[in-house]
Amino acid sequence: MYPQDIGLSESIPIQKRLIIEGNKAYSSRMQKIAEGFEHQLPSWTIIILNDNQWKSWKKPNPSDSTFSILGANRTYVHEHYMRSSDDKIERSLAHELGHLTLKSNKEEDANRWADAYFKLKKKK
Ligand SMILES: [Zn+2]
Repeated sequence: MYPQDIGLSESIPIQKRLIIEGNKAYSSRMQKIAEGFEHQLPSWTIIILNDNQWKSWKKPNPSDSTFSILGANRTYVHEHYMRSSDDKIERSLAHELGHLTLKSNKEEDANRWADAYFKLKKKK
C-alpha cells in the first residue's frame, strides 16, 4: 500500500508545536501552563518580553499584558505579568488562544472561546 492510498495527510498526526521564547527565568513555568492547552494550532509561540521590549513596541491597546498576532500564531507576554497566579496566566493564554484559533481580533470572540474552553475543562 502506498501513502497516497491511505491518505497520507490523515494518517500522520500533525505535530503541534509549542515554543516558548524570551525571558528564560519564566520559560519553564510558562511551558507548564501553556502545555495544558490541547491547542489546535500547528504551532504556537509564546514570547516573554522584558519591560523595555514591551514599552518599545506599539500595541493597539497599551494597557494589555498579553497580545497576539493572528496568522503568525504568536503571543507576547509582558514579563511583569508572570508575577500573576498560574490561574490568571492560564486565563489570559486561553483568551489569546481564542483570538488565534478563531482568527479574530474581537475581544468578545476571544472571551467566548476562553469561557467555552474552561467549561469543557471542568467537565473532564
Ligand atoms: Zn484580546
